[in-house]
Amino acid sequence: MSHNEATLGRLMNAADIDLACAEIHVHQDVASIPLQKGRARLLIPWLVGMAIVMGSWGVMVLESLDHPMMFLHSRQKEADENLVLEQQAIATVPNYKRLWFTRNLFWIDPQLRISSKNYNVFGSAMLLGFVGERTLRPWLEVCAEDSDGDGYSNGAELGDPCCIYRGAGSNAEPTGQVAWSWRLTHPGQDGSAPTPEIQVMLERLDCQAVRQAQAYPSHDEEFDAFFFEVNQNDIDLSWGTSSLRLFFFGVLMAVMGYWAWVRGLWKELSGKGETSAAVLGLTYLVAYAHNDLNSAFVHAFMDNCHHHHPIIGGGCKGTQFHHHRPRGQSLEPMVNWIGNPIATAPAIIICVVYIYLGNGIRYPRCLQTGFQYPRWFELLVFWMGVTAPLSYFFHQAAHTPELERGWLLTLLQQSGVALSPELHKVHHRLPNGTWSVMAGWMDFVPNWLVRNADITSYKGPESAHASFIVILLITVLPWFMWLVYFTIKEIREQSKARMQ
Ligand SMILES: [Zn+2]
Ligand SMILES: [Zn+2]
Repeated sequence: MSHNEATLGRLMNAADIDLACAEIHVHQDVASIPLQKGRARLLIPWLVGMAIVMGSWGVMVLESLDHPMMFLHSRQKEADENLVLEQQAIATVPNYKRLWFTRNLFWIDPQLRISSKNYNVFGSAMLLGFVGERTLRPWLEVCAEDSDGDGYSNGAELGDPCCIYRGAGSNAEPTGQVAWSWRLTHPGQDGSAPTPEIQVMLERLDCQAVRQAQAYPSHDEEFDAFFFEVNQNDIDLSWGTSSLRLFFFGVLMAVMGYWAWVRGLWKELSGKGETSAAVLGLTYLVAYAHNDLNSAFVHAFMDNCHHHHPIIGGGCKGTQFHHHRPRGQSLEPMVNWIGNPIATAPAIIICVVYIYLGNGIRYPRCLQTGFQYPRWFELLVFWMGVTAPLSYFFHQAAHTPELERGWLLTLLQQSGVALSPELHKVHHRLPNGTWSVMAGWMDFVPNWLVRNADITSYKGPESAHASFIVILLITVLPWFMWLVYFTIKEIREQSKARMQ
């Protein structure tokens, strides 16, 4: 087939599809196209389509997070009461939200707090009564009791064995008031009793000294042992998992390779194009920071979302189990680190939409915008896609002891390119903040929100919902901004052409 034949074939194909899509007369002079028949009108189906997709996804997330809105028509009052009760509980009971296998410490169903009658023995012990508003007994009263009768006091199970916890007045929790925040057990289930490691720590504590100082001694060494503890049962060495992850990584790299090829980015990347080294470096830095910030909010979301969610429930459970056994996934082969769908799948979807909008994919033609991004934005999308798998990869590297990590990863951690174990330990000790799992550069944003706006306060349906909205804002808002930008540009050009 000659070059001319190929061009002719493409034109004919385009003409056919134009007919199918109706009234998009691409071969006419731009100036003669009535506005409502031009590309500008694509803004409407794009906005409506996106609103439907985001809305339905948002509602699905909301509905499965035992959010009060779920009960708008039936059990709104009960749901509101339970929400208030849980907020009181978070402020009263030490480490309330750090038992990673249960979301709600008072209720029998550990994932839902929907009923007022289904309290477990610990929940019942904490409740003062039902006269008017339900209130809680003071922690210091309940702390020394053994609600589930397993031989350990409620305080010993929840990391306050000497009963000095005076409540978390705000999100900025006082660290000295709890002895530890890991290996916690359920004070309302007699099958859940302190592990041998906790028993050793309990024996060593001098409660008289603790009460005098009103603070616990640090347990840094014990925390380190927990952080790097190897448990053979947690390692997934199956071929199925590894090949699935390799597949996800492969798809993401293929998509980014295609984008670079179809828009001629290889030339820019090799320095032979018109892009300066400064723009190349700057777009890389911005993309890296964007992924770092995104990793923080995705992590905050996964730490808080519901185990029963139909699509992401498994991921939520896995991420929360990671707090229970932090070393687990880092013992798996590196291919599992680099291809984890938590990092790669959203990047594939988001980059494909950007690429489609940016004239990188031809079909479906009905919604084709034909927009030409400026070069810097094409490069930004490219860098965002290729660096996305690093978030999960660097997270697992931070969980690997120095001897097994290798000099290269240690160098990247020490230079701040990759998340350092020291920074990540902050999150595992006090999970309400420091969520970034890529480098930690952007942690100041969610940490500021925790301190000031109280929207990412951890482990509640409200905080998962808030993190979800932030994720949408930072990943999807630019789509809309480009749609609006190019639409306004086109309308202006058309009216200018009509004036002449
Ligand atoms: Zn976490
Ligand atoms: Zn971690």
